[in-house]
Amino acid sequence: MREISAKLITEKVKEACIAANCRLPDDVIESFKKGKEEEKSPLGRQIFDKMLDNAALAAKKEVPVCQDTGMAVIFAEIGQDCHIVDGDFETAINEGVRRGYVDGYLRLSVVSDPMRRVNTNDNTPAIIHTSIVPGDQIHITVAPKGFGSENMSAIKMFTPAATREDVVGFIVDTMSKAGSNPCPPMIVGVGLGGTFEKAAYLAKKAVCTPLDAPAQDEFYADLEKEITEKANKLGIGPQGWGGTVTALKVRVMAFGTHIAGLPCAVNIGCHVTRHQEFTL
Ligand code: SF4
Repeated sequence: MREISAKLITEKVKEACIAANCRLPDDVIESFKKGKEEEKSPLGRQIFDKMLDNAALAAKKEVPVCQDTGMAVIFAEIGQDCHIVDGDFETAINEGVRRGYVDGYLRLSVVSDPMRRVNTNDNTPAIIHTSIVPGDQIHITVAPKGFGSENMSAIKMFTPAATREDVVGFIVDTMSKAGSNPCPPMIVGVGLGGTFEKAAYLAKKAVCTPLDAPAQDEFYADLEKEITEKANKLGIGPQGWGGTVTALKVRVMAFGTHIAGLPCAVNIGCHVTRHQEFTL
């Protein structure tokens, strides 16, 4: 049984929170460059230049890419042959988030209760998703999620009578209603199948997956292409100023479901869709 220190988890999560907020991943930067080539609107192309300048400046000066440094969403794949010592896992993660946000001077955007709304002043609690996997390593993705985009997300419990057209229509309509609110171009995660909560989980996981990762299979690659093409016809464009690039990426993740259902969750991500990964 391999031992992994909770203190090491805390330190790495702290570093990842700061890095994720200050340095956009290469796949997102590449999508800006590709988007600029594809954008037909001159103003839209100028906005892509500004987005690239902003990302480069943030990385150089080690300041956040956006003022909304998000709620920390953590995906942890924990090898079943490892043993966490010197503390418990969730406390270690939250301590890493606390240190990352406070020591890194990131905006503290989390309240302890949704109705009473008192700021926790350290950006905890984090949203932690764990899965047990083979092996003796821990792989963690830290994805700060801003709420300009999160608030535009939606879920619909279709019945199996729904057609492909119905499902695609709901996803594109969700993007249309979002308009300029999620600071487009958008990165969109779609969760299909499972139960109500599984669909939402898949949609979030889809948003946090590197943009250059392959689709689930050919069927879903084709579905992602169709949704992206329809989204780009909405005309929302970069930062909502009009244009032909409204979606940088649509990623669909699907899971088995009940014979009576077809859950569909759409998690909207903005152009600042951040994620940092590490393995211990
Ligand atoms: S939607 Fe994204 S880019 Fe816009 S304010 Fe929120 S985190 Fe920043």
